[in-house]
Amino acid sequence: MNPSVPACPSCGSTDGFDAGYLPDSQPGGMIVGRWMPGVPEFGLLKGLKWRGRVHLEVRADRCRRCGLLALYAVGPAR
Ligand SMILES: [Zn+2]
Repeated sequence: MNPSVPACPSCGSTDGFDAGYLPDSQPGGMIVGRWMPGVPEFGLLKGLKWRGRVHLEVRADRCRRCGLLALYAVGPAR
């Protein structure tokens, strides 16, 4: 047990989490997945409306024991 590492809320392990992220694709290449507030809204061509809205990059840390993903909206998307 490592007291400086928070316990996994799923399995209780204190083995720690591996840092990671959820890649997403868009025309031109891959990006880091993003979090946006609210519910998805789609335009006439079924594309997701996102311009002018807050969007933050998502960090996805994985529990080393059970695989639980802990998602964090961490900062402005690049
Ligand atoms: Zn776990």
